Amino acid sequence: MEKKYENTVTKAALRYLNDLPSTLAYKRQAGPGRRGKPDITGSIFGQRIEIEMKIGDNFPTKIQRNWIHKWKRFGAITGCAWSVDDVKLIMSNAKICIFCGRPESEDYKLDKNGLCSLKCRKESKK
Ligand SMILES: [Zn+2]
Repeated sequence: MEKKYENTVTKAALRYLNDLPSTLAYKRQAGPGRRGKPDITGSIFGQRIEIEMKIGDNFPTKIQRNWIHKWKRFGAITGCAWSVDDVKLIMSNAKICIFCGRPESEDYKLDKNGLCSLKCRKESKK
């Protein structure tokens, strides 16, 4: 039951991610070498995405937290998500515009949705 719900949220998260420009994301399959690695892996404009999906009051295990810390240290867009909104928040913290891929700078501050300029904010709504 819980597993089924987690799969539903993960699918919705993957739909959201794969609709972003220049983004590929997929679910890691269970199996050897998979232990503790985040559920979702991918990339946006070439920057690595690693997201652990959780449900309810589930909390990442120590090995899962270690993987997230490791990915963070090496510059991936990473975190633990309990909902699609959490995934959106993780992506908005990426410090690159999720519409055009431009890195955040003094001239191009990202808004709370992770978009860099008025043009991107308008275009992304189409
Ligand atoms: Zn942009």
